[in-house]
Amino acid sequence: MLRTISRLASSPARRNFIRLNSTFVVPRTQKAIVFEKNNGPLLYKTDWPVPTPAADEILVNVKYSGVCHTDLHAWHGDWPLPTKLPLVGGHEGAGVVVARGSAVTNFELGDYAGIKWLNGSCLSCEFCLKGAESSCSDAILTGYTHDGTFQEYATAKAIHAAKIPKQTDLAQIAPILCAGITVYKALKTSTATPGQWVAITGAGGGLGSLAIQYAKAMGLRPIAIDTGAAKAELCKSLGAEVFIDFKATSDLSAEIKQATHGGPHAVIHVAVSEAAIEVSTDYVRPTGTIVLVGMPAGAVARSSVFNHVVKAIDIKGSYVGNREDTVEALDFFSRGLVSSPINIVGLSELASVYEKMEKGEIVGRFVLDTTC
Ligand code: NAD
Ligand code: ZN
Repeated sequence: MLRTISRLASSPARRNFIRLNSTFVVPRTQKAIVFEKNNGPLLYKTDWPVPTPAADEILVNVKYSGVCHTDLHAWHGDWPLPTKLPLVGGHEGAGVVVARGSAVTNFELGDYAGIKWLNGSCLSCEFCLKGAESSCSDAILTGYTHDGTFQEYATAKAIHAAKIPKQTDLAQIAPILCAGITVYKALKTSTATPGQWVAITGAGGGLGSLAIQYAKAMGLRPIAIDTGAAKAELCKSLGAEVFIDFKATSDLSAEIKQATHGGPHAVIHVAVSEAAIEVSTDYVRPTGTIVLVGMPAGAVARSSVFNHVVKAIDIKGSYVGNREDTVEALDFFSRGLVSSPINIVGLSELASVYEKMEKGEIVGRFVLDTTC
């Protein structure tokens, strides 16, 4: 396939398009949102080069890409890990395989594929070997160290790309590729068992709205924490047994303890809030588990040692998911156990989506249609 690209690319008759086979015609340039420096303008390009897949990569015609709060962190550059620059962000891409490198055997042209945050890892270090692929020191991060899915065509390591069944609604599945996998893994990491309470902070946002549904599907009892009437309504409609507005309550901890008869057995923090973490060490049930997922810039998880020891609580981090978590999380979606509360807008709207996200105004998830 790569040979086909270079042969046709040099043909004068095909200056603007590369015909890969009778089904797929891949343009040389495409639409993409690019920034050249952190916090710099989000440039809407219509002539961005289409990448060529390496031997172990697939080229995906991204139809839809979710917008994760991580993309906003990447644009701000507010984490202690530099992004590639210039950068095409985005890591919740769902689309169609239109080309593949010579070593790829697990995808056919025309297959549906998902591009995740974890684009690639070495597969041979101690962490990859035990399934902690996201901890690989050679991990390639989509939309961060590798151009992402806010473009019409993006590359991914075939071995890490997600398999998506044909007939799937690609806009709906896009948020599962980061938000869904991440919260599913975090719920597993919490070790909460069916019938137990799980508190979800940031429940009305992208990750939170999926966490409620995965929790419910796993037999847990979700209690949602966020703010505003629209998020309250969404959380309840998705299966939260209780919604607590962290801005409206005078004693968040007391209210959560009362609603859960002694505190939730687990807390999943997807809120982009340091304060939310500290207060949860008070309301979590003794012997319970707090799982850190959201990564507010510069945040520190504070926990009183006395309280931590006497209540015998556990505080854990959880970072996306591995290939097995991906298959499992997508299967919940395919079986209709979770759905994505999405709002679809064009690629060119990314800046306004970031503005809303910054203000905490997004209810559910925004998904970009890469064609406009
Ligand atoms: P989002 O903006 O869609 O949602 C965040 C939600 O948190 C909003 O609804 C907001 O109202 C709510 N919130 C803010 N302060 C709160 C508080 N004090 N208590 C309760 N709710 C509060 O963001 P998202 O896309 O869901 O991402 C959330 C975080 O998760 C980001 O920091 C992102 O980078 C991180 N993330 C981590 C991983 C991982 O693997 N650990 C993966 C994906 C995203
Ligand atoms: Zn993400």
